[in-house]
Amino acid sequence: MGRLALAFVSGLTLFAVGAVQQPAGTLHTGKAFRFNQVKPGVYHAIGTGALAVVGNSSIIVNDNDVIVVDDHASPAAASVLLDELKDITNKPVRTVINTHFHYDHAHGNQVFGKDVEIIGHEFTREMLLGGKSAQMPLYRDYLAGIPRQIEDLKRRITAEPDATKKATLQTQLQVAENNLASQAELKPTPPNVTLQTRMTLHRGDREIQIRFLGRAHTAGDVVVYLPREKIVITGDMLTAALSNMSDAFVNEWPATLDELKKLDFDTVLPGHGEAFTDKAKIDYFQAYLRDVWTEVSRLKQQGVTAEDAAKRADLTKHKEHFPTIQGPGVPLIGVTRIYEVIDKAGRGH
Ligand SMILES: [Zn+2]
Repeated sequence: MGRLALAFVSGLTLFAVGAVQQPAGTLHTGKAFRFNQVKPGVYHAIGTGALAVVGNSSIIVNDNDVIVVDDHASPAAASVLLDELKDITNKPVRTVINTHFHYDHAHGNQVFGKDVEIIGHEFTREMLLGGKSAQMPLYRDYLAGIPRQIEDLKRRITAEPDATKKATLQTQLQVAENNLASQAELKPTPPNVTLQTRMTLHRGDREIQIRFLGRAHTAGDVVVYLPREKIVITGDMLTAALSNMSDAFVNEWPATLDELKKLDFDTVLPGHGEAFTDKAKIDYFQAYLRDVWTEVSRLKQQGVTAEDAAKRADLTKHKEHFPTIQGPGVPLIGVTRIYEVIDKAGRGH
């Protein structure tokens, strides 16, 4: 308790002396990000838990400027990312790339100055324009979950007899309350530069390709490909584990991953989880996607409701490669989406 109170006071002092217009919810203890240098000048930024950042970002430090790929789940998270970036470079961020429209990759866009180019697929712009992204089930569920998380943490803090565990819960409560405060300041901000299939940035010797390879996790995923460094930044088209399917084209996703495989890379910086080099992960994920599509389609054809299909769809044969699969069942948000895609196809769209 004492330690937390002290951290809070020193945070307040920093706030008073330092930045003039810090967005709400940025006060935190310790670093919010760890920057893993994957190859010279290319970093994978992963949240430490000190703030709710949700997705990863990737940082490309060029001769004269910095490119940020994805910018986390809130204005506070993106603002703190910009602060902590000063630990690795003093060059200015001139470009942001959104791999897709989801809140945990694009809801930090508003903190960047008007002179910063925000690049994304045309579909990503469409979804962030007018706040459409914030109306989608993925973000609505996330937002609705934060007050519940806060209430739950408060209950557990009251019930916890162990001082160390109590302090951990109190830190988690502070993180959740910060997150809620920052979500209240959200102004979804679309890319101001868009592409349909491909764009290449040249920064000194570095080539940065932005590629749309087909529909997958959303209708507008782009990957960022650095051919010289043999790195690909994949957003949620390919993560270290399973990706959510709330806005996906699960039936088209494996073919899009086949296109990804044609690029010459050795390192993947995913939107969630640690960087990896094992390309067999792509095969495992394609096999999962094909089976989830087949299994859910079969249940739908039998007249099973989406709710029941979400409980019954059995993907347990994939649990060796995806340990979060503990038994039958697939997240309802993904099953609902598969039902929607099948229905739309049936109506000829
Ligand atoms: Zn996503």
